[in-house]
Amino acid sequence: MVRLIFDEMLKRTATWCRIFGVDSKHVKDMPDSEIIKMAKDKQRILITRDEKLAGICKNHDVEVILLESDDLTQQLNQLKSALGGIFTFPEKTRCPACNGELEIVDKEKVKNKVIDNVYKQNEKFWLCKECKKVYWKGSHWKNITRIFESIK
Ligand SMILES: [Zn+2]
Repeated sequence: MVRLIFDEMLKRTATWCRIFGVDSKHVKDMPDSEIIKMAKDKQRILITRDEKLAGICKNHDVEVILLESDDLTQQLNQLKSALGGIFTFPEKTRCPACNGELEIVDKEKVKNKVIDNVYKQNEKFWLCKECKKVYWKGSHWKNITRIFESIK
């Protein structure tokens, strides 16, 4: 399974990779040397827009992908062509907030965790195994599906 680590500038890209099922760590306020160490120790591929950082990685035998574009769809496309079938959405998806694995849970289980309207209007709920956040096919679902289709 591919595991990624994104530099500070790429939070949005990391979040979308999580939604599409990829184990994606995002670092903040971390010096380059530590990011590189973490990538190496945890065997994560480093994703960056920073040519200098990518250069250092190559010198240290750390696997790195230098994203060519600022455009999200193009970035996701580049990751897909570099790494193959990494996106497991919608079968498997991860928590956009914390990168934890999401599991589909019985509706009953979330009864006290979501507002009544959401509970009534939805049949399918996901629970984050790590931060216990509950997800459902809300208003963002269309947008998520549209972006996913654009990288197929
Ligand atoms: Zn979570």
